[in-house]
Amino acid sequence: MLGNTVVKLSIENNSAALLARIEKEAGTSVNLCYQCGKCSAGCPVAFAMDYTPRKVIRLLQLGMVDEALKADSIWICATCETCSTRCPRGVDIASLMDTLRREALAQGKITDKKVAVFNEAFLDGVRSFGRTYEAGLLMKHNLKTGQLFKDAELGLPMMSRGKVSLFPHKIKARNEIKKIFDRVNKMGGE
Ligand code: SF4
Ligand code: SF4
Repeated sequence: MLGNTVVKLSIENNSAALLARIEKEAGTSVNLCYQCGKCSAGCPVAFAMDYTPRKVIRLLQLGMVDEALKADSIWICATCETCSTRCPRGVDIASLMDTLRREALAQGKITDKKVAVFNEAFLDGVRSFGRTYEAGLLMKHNLKTGQLFKDAELGLPMMSRGKVSLFPHKIKARNEIKKIFDRVNKMGGE
């Protein structure tokens, strides 16, 4: 009985410490939120989320950090910042979503592995060329997820119209981008 209580307290302490770290990294506090719902009302992708932005904040307020980390919503968020701009209490929801994504990646809490593959392929492109390389991103993603011809019917016409290039465009200051990646690596962020 005492053992169960100790385990419960320890989980609660861990989730409180984790939430404190997430809030610090996001530069905002979930306790400012009074659940008005303005963030969800303005979010362009809330319809596709399992938890609307307001509910993600509520999960965090209730200490259900694990639930928030496993939510599809954090991956559906498009970082448009509408929510943060609309919030009357100044809660930076977009920054929280971003921090939750990084934490979920770090903890390997991604229910859909395709998301992790997409992230990796995207970052590989930026690291190598200094900007996104859409064709390479799609090819790498499809190869690693075993869906070789996924979206080919969209990609090929876009290439033929010059909307997507088969070859990557490189920026000149790639060294600067590399330095950013190195710094992030040193901070344990990648
Ligand atoms: S808009 Fe701000 S105060 Fe209102 S529910 Fe969203 S986070 Fe909370
Ligand atoms: S930043 Fe994310 S959660 Fe906020 S409104 Fe945009 S898509 Fe929705």
